[in-house]
Formats: sequence, structure tokens, C-alpha cells
Amino acid sequence: MSVPLVQVQGLEVHYPLGRRLLGRDPVLKALDGVSVSIPKGSCFGLVGESGSGKTTLGRAILKAAPISAGQITFDDGTGRQDIGTLRGRALKAYRSQAQLIFQDPYAALSPRMTVRDIIAEPLEVMGLTQNRAETDARVREIAEKCRLTLEHLRRYPHAFSGGQRQRISIARAFVSNPSFVVADESVAALDVSIQADILNLLKSLQRDLDLTFLFISHDLSVVAHICDRVAVMYLGQIVEEAPVKDLFATPRHPYTRALLSAIPALDPDAPKTAQRLSGDIPSPADPPPGCRFHTRCPVARDRCKVEAPEVEHLPNGGTVACHYWTETVPA
Ligand code: SF4
Repeated sequence: MSVPLVQVQGLEVHYPLGRRLLGRDPVLKALDGVSVSIPKGSCFGLVGESGSGKTTLGRAILKAAPISAGQITFDDGTGRQDIGTLRGRALKAYRSQAQLIFQDPYAALSPRMTVRDIIAEPLEVMGLTQNRAETDARVREIAEKCRLTLEHLRRYPHAFSGGQRQRISIARAFVSNPSFVVADESVAALDVSIQADILNLLKSLQRDLDLTFLFISHDLSVVAHICDRVAVMYLGQIVEEAPVKDLFATPRHPYTRALLSAIPALDPDAPKTAQRLSGDIPSPADPPPGCRFHTRCPVARDRCKVEAPEVEHLPNGGTVACHYWTETVPA
């Protein structure tokens, strides 16, 4: 694996719930001991059900969620920076290098600003250009890359379709010339035909601008299309991580297998293989003891109820956390 741009070690993001219960101060464990490396130049996927902690991990890396324990470091080209300690100018510089594309292209754009002003705002707030002419030149350059015309720049967001709005959001995220972009469910709100267009745009921007992506999605087929590596999250922890082709060919963790089996098949006559997971994902305020997945795992045994599995490192550079993965992977 190439050099990591972002390295996360033992990350915990816990939120106190504020009311004392049975002599305990309850906390919501949004992330609980997450370790992962995002290689430079990769498109790294993060998948899992709602409530698994995907968005919190993206936000923590962008320093938009409080770190309770652990460390996140970022290679800014001069050395590794500890994100948790960044303040003032160093934090401003980090914000220009690490950007976010929002999920909802309708809510993300101010209806009172022209598209030119929306895209220019990060440059002005971060003081990245010296004057209006320089700002305009940069806005036009990134707008062209995102297939927006000069005429588009004069209009307001309400005049655009969902796909066009998402291209405006992407231009805004890329205008500061970041090296790392978090795309959080960035195509989930779009029609399928528009999704493909936006995914191809992201892929070509990544290639042209030499970017690293953290691509958060609940849709594994989207992840298969765009990502090089993928991590699967369940209840605040990473249960499996691998190169995307390897994970799709040989899912090792029972939860990964359940997610993959739920992808709809294009052939209506194909055998139905979906493994239904019983019940909902448990509350992160009261996670089950032992393996967190044991309450829904189709191959759980008694040991799983009391002993949390260690994270095992694999020859493909990935990891898996399951006591019995070697016995339960289908031949
Ligand atoms: Fe299932 Fe046990 Fe593996 Fe957890 S450790 S995924 S409960 S088999």
C-alpha cells in the first residue's frame, strides 16, 4: 500500500448523554476504537448501515466532530500533522486542504447567492486569493472542470436541476485546490442516471487533480464503481477493510457478506441470495457486549457474546474482526 495521507489510530468519538442512569453517566459511542489508513491518491470507500458511524468518522477527520481519544494525522506535504492539535492558521490551512461535498445539493447551496459567489466563498473566507480578478479566474477554471458555463455562474441555485446543483457543490469543494475530499453520500439524493454522471465527474477530477477521496456511502454498487479500497463499519467500529475487488470477491466478515448479498441483481431470474439481518442495528448508547454484531450475526456462537474479536491483519493489507472468519468464509 502507498503512503497514507490520513492515518486514524484508536479513534473514539463519544457524546455524553447528560442524564445519570443507574449510577452511570451514559455516553453515545459514535466511534469506538477505529484505526484506518487512507492511502495517498486513493478513493477510499466507507460503507455500513445508518448509525454505523461513517459520517462521524468523515467529520472527525475534517475536525468537525470532537475526538474523545485516539489520534488522526494528515500528511500536508511538509510532515504529519496531528489534526486534534490544529489551531488558528494551521487549522485554516488544513481546512483549505481537506474539503467536504455535502449529501443534499438542495440544502447545501444558499438560495440568496449567485453560483459565482457560492463557489468563490471558500477562497474569500480562507484568504486564498489577493483580489477579485484572481478569485474570478480561479472560479472560472474550476467551474469549467465541473462543466459549468459562464452563464451558469450568473444564476441562482433555484434555476438548476439536482445534478447541476451537485456539480456546483463539487466546484465549491474543489476551488481551494484541496488534496483530500470527503464525499458524504454525495450521489444518494440523485436519480440513478445523474448518479453515474456525477461519479464519472468525481473520478476524472480525482485523476486530473491528484486527489485522495473518502467516499461515504450505504450503496455498495456505487462504491464498487469508484473506490480502490473499502472499509465496512458496524456500530462505531471497522469490521473489515480490503482492496475493493478483493472484498467483493471474498467477503470475510459475516456483516460484509450480508451487505453484499442485499445488492439487487440485474437478472430477475438470478437466484435470490439476500441474507436478511434480523432486527435493527443496536443503539450506540448501549452496544452489546462481546462482538457487537452477535445479536444479528447468522453464524454467532457463545464465545461471540462475551469476547470481542481482535482486529486481524491480512496479507492483502486489509483487516477483519471476527473470531470465526476462516471457518465461515464460503469455499
Ligand atoms: Fe459473527 Fe462471532 Fe464473527 Fe461476530 S465474532 S461476526 S458474532 S461469528
